[in-house]
Amino acid sequence: MSSAELYINLANICSNWNALNSLSNGVAGAVVKANAYGLGIKEVGISLAKAGARDFFVAVAEEGAALRRAIGPGPKIYIFSGHMVGDTTLLRDFHLIPLINSAKQLLFHLENSSNQLIGIQLDTGMNRLGMEATEFQELNETISKLKPELIISHLACADDQTHPMNENQLVNFNAMTKDINCKKSLAATGGILLGKQYHFDITRPGIGLYGGNPYSSAKRVIGLKLPVIQIRTVLPGETVGYSNTWTAKKITKVATVSSGYADGIFRSMSNKATLYYNEIPNSIIGRISMDLIGVDVSNCKEDPDYLWLLNGTQSIDDLADEANSIGYEILTALGQRYNRIYI
Ligand SMILES: *Cc1c(COP(=O)(O)O)cnc(C)c1O
Repeated sequence: MSSAELYINLANICSNWNALNSLSNGVAGAVVKANAYGLGIKEVGISLAKAGARDFFVAVAEEGAALRRAIGPGPKIYIFSGHMVGDTTLLRDFHLIPLINSAKQLLFHLENSSNQLIGIQLDTGMNRLGMEATEFQELNETISKLKPELIISHLACADDQTHPMNENQLVNFNAMTKDINCKKSLAATGGILLGKQYHFDITRPGIGLYGGNPYSSAKRVIGLKLPVIQIRTVLPGETVGYSNTWTAKKITKVATVSSGYADGIFRSMSNKATLYYNEIPNSIIGRISMDLIGVDVSNCKEDPDYLWLLNGTQSIDDLADEANSIGYEILTALGQRYNRIYI
């Protein structure tokens, strides 16, 4: 079998959730949008619900429905995109709570499903999703009567603890919500690390659960092991891969491993990233192709039959650095061809 193995450590995801829950002033929810950051909404959702998570967040109603099927009734599932045309039946049948983003969405919601639970999303400066201050103020009475389950906003710069935007958004959030009696939520992973005044009733960690920065004390969650298909010796002057971007300067032992950009190993890591054989680092040489990668394994004493791209030595953030990317993008790009092994 030549498909690579992606190990997903559900126990460590739960352990990260427990740690972030303990850090939170109130309780930690769990953000499982984008198929739980690429790791499997079903498996991750079930594990986190067992660990005690009671408030889940996803981007769109379809993800909410998939999560509800996996975890059953009980935990609350909030939808960041609110109530869109076409969502009404899903929201009702799967007991999903839309986070209403605008007066327009509120009106649409009331016209289509008057007895459903809602939450509200506010814009405190990011200008991405949520009601603006004036819009929210004008609707204050209507919204108070609807007794929202939760009011949230999202921080734009929480990964930088010293950024003045954090404090600005906190001030805005407090000002906008001071007269409404309702549970509140402002902090994602970065916000949790900013301190208790950012926590409110429910925090919303995503990346921290999956082992990524800015939660640097997170336990590692994934391992990625790529099988070696073939090993050859390349002589000085010979080239490796498409467009001859790498030329041997000395006799080089080259391994061709199974996986490529179709599996989420970005082409921009060509001639840059490192794969590990036990503790031995081995450089990618030449262009990454769709299904294959060339690696200089001259430093390995024996011929390796596999190489690790993600392991205890190389985290998603280390790898992201090689591609001018972020851990979030590495995770959500993880391909569908991997043999996924949950541990
Ligand atoms: C994605 C997202 C989160 C989770 O953010 P992390 O940085 O992954 O912890 C929380 N809230 C909102 C609104 C989001 O879009």
